[in-house]
Amino acid sequence: MEPLSNRKKVLEQKPMNFWERLYLPAIFQGMIITFRHMFKKKETVFYPEFQREFSENWRGMHSLKRDEEGRERCTACGLCALSCPAEAITMIAAERQKGEEALYREEKYAAVYEINMLRCIFCGLCEEACPKEAIYLDGPIVPADYLRKDFIYGKDKLVEEPLKLQQD
Ligand code: SF4
Ligand code: SF4
Repeated sequence: MEPLSNRKKVLEQKPMNFWERLYLPAIFQGMIITFRHMFKKKETVFYPEFQREFSENWRGMHSLKRDEEGRERCTACGLCALSCPAEAITMIAAERQKGEEALYREEKYAAVYEINMLRCIFCGLCEEACPKEAIYLDGPIVPADYLRKDFIYGKDKLVEEPLKLQQD
């Protein structure tokens, strides 16, 4: 091992000069910076009373879309669940019955569609994988909650409301 005397100092501590030893100039400098920031535009947003504008690339809560006739677009192909790196999507497919043509677009639909929001990393891969343009991450922030089970969102929270569709 190299003797200690041969080693170079990486960081040398300079002795403090008179002004530095007084500490007051450093305190005043700090106060000046604080006062300067007091008059700058505040970046704080009083969430949830106010919400900031999101960029076009924003990925929020998922929504399962309906087509122009109000039918669910999802055909339960499972590609979104397969592409999900966090394994956050659970789905159970079912066959459309007679008389359900106005509810579901094709012969198959997702009877159960759940996303575990605690697992989801909002990567958007489910949106990209979907061949039916059925899922988009265009919703708001996933709100806070108390119980883990309340972060598993089912179709009741994910499927777009038909009423909203009519207004569009
Ligand atoms: S956004 Fe990513 S992590 Fe979240 S459900 Fe979709 S694929 Fe999975
Ligand atoms: S959301 Fe899209 S990718 Fe996922 S099961 Fe439905 S149709 Fe398939």
